[in-house]
Amino acid sequence: MGHLGAHVSAAGGVAKACERGAAIGCDALQVFVKNANVWRAKPLAADAVAAFMAARDATPGPSVPAPLAVIAHASYLINLASPVAETADRSRDALVDELQRCDQLGIDGLVVHPGAHVGQGVDAGLDAIARALDEVFERHPGGRARLLLENTAGQGTVLGAELQHHGRIVRSVAAPDRLGLCLDTCHAFAAGFDLRSADGYEHLLAAADAAFGSAAVVAWHLNDSRHPLDSRKDRHASIGAGEIGLEAFARLVHDARFEHVPMILETPLGDDGQGHARDLITLRGLDARAA
Ligand SMILES: [Zn+2]
Ligand SMILES: [Zn+2]
Repeated sequence: MGHLGAHVSAAGGVAKACERGAAIGCDALQVFVKNANVWRAKPLAADAVAAFMAARDATPGPSVPAPLAVIAHASYLINLASPVAETADRSRDALVDELQRCDQLGIDGLVVHPGAHVGQGVDAGLDAIARALDEVFERHPGGRARLLLENTAGQGTVLGAELQHHGRIVRSVAAPDRLGLCLDTCHAFAAGFDLRSADGYEHLLAAADAAFGSAAVVAWHLNDSRHPLDSRKDRHASIGAGEIGLEAFARLVHDARFEHVPMILETPLGDDGQGHARDLITLRGLDARAA
C-alpha cells in the first residue's frame, strides 16, 4: 500500500501536526509550513523546528516505522501566472520563503498549484509560471525540497487540468530536477480522467509519464469528488461518498508502483472532525481484488 495519511493542522506549532496525525492513524502527513491565508509570517523559531523534527522522528505510523513521511502544501494565495505584477512578486517571494521553511524542517516536497492565467491565455500563463520558477530556484540555490506541481480541476482560468501543461513547464525551466508531480484524484476526475475504470486510471498515469517522465508522481491527494466527471469543479467528498467511488481508490492504494508514495486525504472533516480518521479506515479496508 501507499503511505496513507492526511492533511493535518499545524496550529500551535508544526510539531503538533505529528501528534494529530498519529492520533488518527496516519502513515504520512501534509502540513502548511506557515498560515496559508496570509502572504507573510514570522520566521520559524529554532525551537519549533527542533520540536517538529523530534516529534517526527519519534512518531511511527500504524504501518510504517518512524520517522513519518511529511510533505507540505503551499499557500493558496500564490499565483505564479498572475498578470498583476504585485501578485506575481508576492507569489515568488512566498514560494521562496516556503521552500526555505521546508528545508529548515527537513520536508522534501512542497505541493503548489501551477497558477491561473486570469485572461492572458494559456501560453502566456505557462510561460509566466516557468520564468517565475526559474527565479524562485535561483533565489534559493541548493534547495533540497522539490516543488510538486499539482494537477487541477481546471476551474475558471486555472492551468494544470491537462498534464501537458505540467510537461510544458518542466521542459522550459532551467532546473527541471527541482520539480515533481502531485496527482489529486478529485481534480483529475473533474478534469475528465475517468478513474472509475482501470483504463481511465492508466490514461491518467500515461499522461503524467508523457508530460513529466516516469517516476515523476511523488505524492497523491486522495479525494472523492462531489461533482461528476469533467465538471471542472473542485469540491472534495469523503472516500466512497462522491462520484469516483471505492473501486478507484482500491486500485490506487494497492498499486505497487506507488507502494512508498505519500497518499494524502484532503476530504471533509465532518461535524465531529473525524472525517480523515474514517476515510483512513475505509481506505485500509479496501480489498486489492476489488480493484
Ligand atoms: Zn489536492
Ligand atoms: Zn481540490
